[in-house]
Amino acid sequence: MMKKWILSAAVLLAAIGAAFFLLAEPQENTEYPVKAHSGMNMSQQPKSFKSAVTLSAIGDILIHGRVYNDAKTGSSTYDFKPMIKDVKPLIGKSDITFANQETMIGGTEIGLSTYPSFNSPFEVVDAFQDAGVDIAGIANNHTLDRGEKAILNATDRYDEIGMPYVGGYRNSQDADEPRVINKNGVKLGFLAYTYGTNGIPVPEGKPHLVNLIDKPKMIKDIEEMKKLSDAVIVSMHWGVEYIRLPNEEQQELAKFLADQGVDLVIGHHPHVLQPMEWVEGQNGKKTFVVYSLGNFLSGQVGEYKEIGGIFSVKITKELSKGTKKIEVTEPGFVPTIVVNQNNRAYRVKELKNVDQAQNNAIQEHMFQNLNEEN
Ligand SMILES: [Zn+2]
Repeated sequence: MMKKWILSAAVLLAAIGAAFFLLAEPQENTEYPVKAHSGMNMSQQPKSFKSAVTLSAIGDILIHGRVYNDAKTGSSTYDFKPMIKDVKPLIGKSDITFANQETMIGGTEIGLSTYPSFNSPFEVVDAFQDAGVDIAGIANNHTLDRGEKAILNATDRYDEIGMPYVGGYRNSQDADEPRVINKNGVKLGFLAYTYGTNGIPVPEGKPHLVNLIDKPKMIKDIEEMKKLSDAVIVSMHWGVEYIRLPNEEQQELAKFLADQGVDLVIGHHPHVLQPMEWVEGQNGKKTFVVYSLGNFLSGQVGEYKEIGGIFSVKITKELSKGTKKIEVTEPGFVPTIVVNQNNRAYRVKELKNVDQAQNNAIQEHMFQNLNEEN
């Protein structure tokens, strides 16, 4: 009797398993580029489905001359992997990791350069890809530092290594290609914008080179991205350098993005950390905003400029009775610090292993606007 019951239960479980297998959305791997799914048939989606993806983000990868000189291994070869090896397990821990590539990766062909007009070696992105970065934001005030050529070289390199980039593009077709990463059946749509380009004008007729903060364009982009993805993630290069709290303009833009129904805003540019908070949009939609992720790897020191971190959230998608629910939960932040010895041996380390008291203070700083129920 017992045996028969076990057998029936096993058959039932197998049937449920098979049904789930048939109904579940395919667990596609990260794919890129993702074309508009114009032929997608919603009726083929299962009645209920629940899945989650973990997402991390790191701040500015700002490669000063003293940093690339330390990474030099030959006449025109570089290796940045040792600089981030201590935090590599943390960078690659989430399903998907976003980084702000502040300096363009134009390569040695056009000559490397440091502040104020940066150009960095290709090996920078190689190292970050090796550490687990999946997508690079390249809309920032340094995008145009070395002109179109640096952007074309950078985008070539990203394509070569198979890493999507967002916010700066080689041409208008490239700019029209939505950056959607499908992981565990959850489609993450990425957009990126910058407040400006250090006074360097965007070349005539080439607005694709860098996405500027432009509300009508953003409304359109976000609307389009909502149709193609489950969660919309917007990278914002904004705020005032070296200021540890968001200003009114950032808060106003965060509210604007919440009003558009964006799920997550990843901020950077101040080169120091600014806190995280929930911002409520006009329809009651709550958007998670991290105002600034600070510097992740740079040659800047002092006044918190060597402090950065690895931000993370969980994004859950639930389909039930014809409605889709997207939830952003479990915000986390692991503070990091860049150390060096007389501009040699640049290393990114977990702050708790270098200065426990400062680590605690940074944690408090980042979580100050999140109450416990969040
Ligand atoms: Zn910047």
